[in-house]
Amino acid sequence: MQFSRRMANVRRSYIREILKVTQRPEVISFAGGLPSPDHFPVRGFAEATQAVLDEAGPQALQYSTTEGFPPLREFISRRYREKWGLDIPPEEILITSGSQQGLDLIAKTLLDEGDTVLIERPGYLGAIQCFSMFGVEFSTVDLTPSGPDLEQLALRLEEGARLFYVVPTFQNPSSTAWDLTTRQEAARLLAASNAVLLEDNPYGELRFLGHDMPPVRAFFDDERAVLMGSFSKIVAPGLRLGWIAAKPALMHHLVTAKQASDLHTSTFTQRVLARFLADTDLDEHIALIRKEYGERRDCMVEAIEKHFPVEVTASRPEGGMFLWCELPEGVSASALFEKTIACNVAFVPGRPFYVDGTDNAFRLNFSNSTPERINEGIKRLGACLREAL
Ligand code: PMP
Repeated sequence: MQFSRRMANVRRSYIREILKVTQRPEVISFAGGLPSPDHFPVRGFAEATQAVLDEAGPQALQYSTTEGFPPLREFISRRYREKWGLDIPPEEILITSGSQQGLDLIAKTLLDEGDTVLIERPGYLGAIQCFSMFGVEFSTVDLTPSGPDLEQLALRLEEGARLFYVVPTFQNPSSTAWDLTTRQEAARLLAASNAVLLEDNPYGELRFLGHDMPPVRAFFDDERAVLMGSFSKIVAPGLRLGWIAAKPALMHHLVTAKQASDLHTSTFTQRVLARFLADTDLDEHIALIRKEYGERRDCMVEAIEKHFPVEVTASRPEGGMFLWCELPEGVSASALFEKTIACNVAFVPGRPFYVDGTDNAFRLNFSNSTPERINEGIKRLGACLREAL
């Protein structure tokens, strides 16, 4: 059978492949980017589902509008205003099937074959995979602990990029959070360029140290500033509910692209989530998640200090779900993965987060393991690392 040329450019998600190996019960896996299920609001959803069916009846199961369920769009709009003073009316919010669909719709509406997409280095592999479907060229800007290297950013923007895709707060994979000055300076550079800013923020609310940071969009109020968000990490990923915030001209095309793709995101799930959010204090719920993740992060950092050889550097994130570890130059994390899996402990090798083949880094997820499993897993991993280095 002949397949489209498009598929030749795209690799299967390495993480989804790895998850097959790591699902054996004896493996302690820090590989998946899974939120902790301990705080998935099972009872809240049972009640909200019943209420939606009782109150909306068959209407809850009918086809609906592409843009999304109005009360959910209003909730998101209100939250931007209350948290950041951002004026994003509900009409500028499109509900998507996870923010991953947001990436796809943005690519469909803004990118042509051969266009340059600028990404952080390392960058989110799901975005690399998505944009690869559209035959784009990638250029990269190195991430420093305070955000993208600004000199490089200025150069890359001057060279010309159609889109600058960023995850400024607790990025996947590095958990880097851009500082305030970097956000302001990046906004200034973007304003002087022609690039569209695509700001993806699924982890921003998961901060357990320091102060919350405004989106870059707060300093770049332009139709080229596009925000994406997701309920995956603050409520539950199985809902597949996210959103894009974009100005009317782009929104028009996004809606057309979404119609062609899936007509609309499940109305039923949107209604249930809206009902859940109306009956719940979301900030209280997020506070529980932050507390648990903070404890798990501390536990992993301490275990790493105890068990890892000094040649391995590990980040100390102030939020999010990941720790990012760097190996000495020339050491392959992919080769190391084969060894650690034999010791029943798993991580994600860094290579799929780079478009240039870099392979001396790996990502550890701490949100989805109990402190006991974190201690045991890091001990096993430390032993493997000592043997390998
Ligand atoms: N963006 C980033 C940076 C992510 O880490 C993820 C999830 N791994 C997504 C988008 C997609 O999330 P979802 O589709 O569940 O909203």
